[in-house]
Amino acid sequence: MSPDSNPYRKDFPILARRVHDKPLVYFDNANTAQKPTAVIEAVDRFYRETNANVARAVHSLGEAATSAYEGARDKLARFINANTRDEVIFTGGTTQAINTVAYSYALPRLQPGDEILVTTMEHHANIVPWQLVAARAGAKVIPAPITPSGELIVEEFVARLNPRVKLAGVTHVSNVLGTINPVRELAKACRARGIPLLVDGSQAAPHLPVDVQALGCDFYALTGHKLFGPTGTGLLWARRELLAAMPPFFGGGEMIRTVSFDGTTFADPPHRFEAGTPNIAGFVGLGAAVDYVNRVGLDTIGAMERELGAYMTDALKSVPGLRLFGEAKEKAAVFSFLIDGVHAHDLATLLDHEGVAVRSGHHCAHPLMQFYGVPATARASLAFYNTREEIDFFVAAIARVRKLLG
Ligand code: PMP
Repeated sequence: MSPDSNPYRKDFPILARRVHDKPLVYFDNANTAQKPTAVIEAVDRFYRETNANVARAVHSLGEAATSAYEGARDKLARFINANTRDEVIFTGGTTQAINTVAYSYALPRLQPGDEILVTTMEHHANIVPWQLVAARAGAKVIPAPITPSGELIVEEFVARLNPRVKLAGVTHVSNVLGTINPVRELAKACRARGIPLLVDGSQAAPHLPVDVQALGCDFYALTGHKLFGPTGTGLLWARRELLAAMPPFFGGGEMIRTVSFDGTTFADPPHRFEAGTPNIAGFVGLGAAVDYVNRVGLDTIGAMERELGAYMTDALKSVPGLRLFGEAKEKAAVFSFLIDGVHAHDLATLLDHEGVAVRSGHHCAHPLMQFYGVPATARASLAFYNTREEIDFFVAAIARVRKLLG
């Protein structure tokens, strides 16, 4: 395997390590992405040179930490083309972002009989928070169906946008199937009916340009660790007028204007939604991740991943007895599959012995597994730092595993 075939591999130190004395083949990028040196060093430098709490101290370090943290917000706002930086709320990840919308936006508005529309291919993070608030309000969460090849049936989604629907949620890219959903079209249909649309961008932001204004959605959530940034970072973007009308979800320091026992008033967004000391170093690292992605360029990343994805599709189709889940026309380089007679966990365990990291399980998408009638799949998910040589090695490793299992 020639690591030199991809000029970006050297930016990711972990890719040089060995696992079970074999070169690491990291195909678990949809789970979490590896971190470039630029991110690792930004976090390290923050703790060595700048560490202090944000927005509390007037001393030099406090000011430097605040400007590094708020500087990361500017970078993220530009990255997703937010109208203003105040529309970007830092969260611990997508899960916290969606829960914030569920409790601050949806819950106060939901009435008995109301509905929240999602799709069959959602991650649990875009199902369970809605179920929790729906249960409190006597509302329901309704799925829009997909085709066997893993595409959302747009007309079925639109047909479910009735006046009882108070919010719709859709994943931009499926973490299991790789399907890229037609968010602009869905946003247009929602907008025409006055229904806000939340987009789960966890799997999109690392792979394709995100322009929240062009998409026409109302809320966009993403998680930093899949975007080559540190764990425990992410964001919620929402239109300014929606945020302005939302009460806070968490209370505490940093999110208030005045506090008294007669009543408390809250800071404006984004700080209204950022109670307590945030993951300052993490967001500095996420800012560095965005700088890195911009340097490589999402066009380059997209082109490399499309090329690898096409190569992977052909390679997997050549494996006898392999069932691929998700063959949407618009698709990211995420491949869920099963091999006749081999349990997904056994496959992943034996592939690990070959140095290959893939995920097996339900991928936090039980309803999707139920749709396909399987308890689990194996999933190989690529990033631009992967190579054709790794794909060849992976397919050869599958053949060896099969032989081993008889
Ligand atoms: N949505 C999708 C589509 C995901 O892939 C993930 C992560 N697997 C999440 C939401 C949740 O992200 P996090 O755990 O970082 O909050």
